[in-house]
Amino acid sequence: MIDLRSDTCTRPTAAMRRAMAEAEVGDDVFGEDPTVRALEEETAALLGTEAALYVPSGHMSNQIAVYVQTRSGDEVWTHRSGHVVANEQGAASVLARVLPRVHDCASGYPDAALLEEWAGGADDVHRARPRLICLENTFSGLVVPPAEQRRIAAFAHDRGMLLHLDGARLWNAAVALGETPARVAEGADTVSVCFSKGLGAPVGSALAGDAPTVAEARRARKLLGGGMRQAGIVAAGALYALRNHVGRLAEDHGRAQALAERIAQTPPLAAEARTNMVLVTTPADRAREFAGLFAREGVGCVPLGRDLLRLVVHLDVSDEDVDAAATRIAAAAAAAG
Ligand SMILES: *Cc1c(COP(=O)(O)O)cnc(C)c1O
Repeated sequence: MIDLRSDTCTRPTAAMRRAMAEAEVGDDVFGEDPTVRALEEETAALLGTEAALYVPSGHMSNQIAVYVQTRSGDEVWTHRSGHVVANEQGAASVLARVLPRVHDCASGYPDAALLEEWAGGADDVHRARPRLICLENTFSGLVVPPAEQRRIAAFAHDRGMLLHLDGARLWNAAVALGETPARVAEGADTVSVCFSKGLGAPVGSALAGDAPTVAEARRARKLLGGGMRQAGIVAAGALYALRNHVGRLAEDHGRAQALAERIAQTPPLAAEARTNMVLVTTPADRAREFAGLFAREGVGCVPLGRDLLRLVVHLDVSDEDVDAAATRIAAAAAAAG
């Protein structure tokens, strides 16, 4: 099976496993795990923030960001399919008890007119207090243009709001833009990054921000039961990934492009590459059927909508895999007619 369902499906490399096996560890709840500390410091340095916190998942990272930057009843603005509202079991309403307000901008980020409209009447006693804007970069593989992110950050800060950047795939955005991760994080008050997606580490994410916010986040992590003891074992995998697997994301982007070009020649399918993802459009209402046909040919993918499939290229996908996947997808498409 060529597993293109997600860049979370990678296995640790031999060198990464070695780094994990040999990691120096201590009790991280006591702040005594040197490997976790090194990971947090290097992550903060790369993102240009004062501090960072290692957490078990991107889900927890996002939820801590919402929890520490809002009060119960505040409005949190995000895309309708933003991970923080669409893929985390409604946790923001359970834990931080905020009111999500969702938009449907195709770019994934709110346009200026929408922000102006939503900010109108913010002082009206009838409405919830707008507090946090959540932005994803990349959003389903799409890179947020830096100028747009600056515009949104400036808007938030002008109105006393904060900006949380869900950068699960920020590394991909940085490589695609040819910018440093710090430049891509610019303007955000908190930034969540994943080590367990394109970077290929087995476990973990980080929440970065200024020192007081990260100190609060450290408390919230414990509140949620996310205090880990000799976490250096898994943090070592993340640290190895951070040091060795960021630059190579360009290879994934090249392979996604190659795969999209092959699939685009396979009627009735259309395909578009977005950083490390390939979005495949099927005939109306047939996404699930095609996902099943691909699976039968040994290609794993994920249906995103009624006529949309997602394939993700990652560390464990070679040029040969791309070639084989394209051939199998062509066979599936031919069988479907
Ligand atoms: C995967 C992902 C997360 C959550 O990461 P987990 O570690 O799987 O909890 C958050 N945001 C986005 C955009 C993601 O793709």
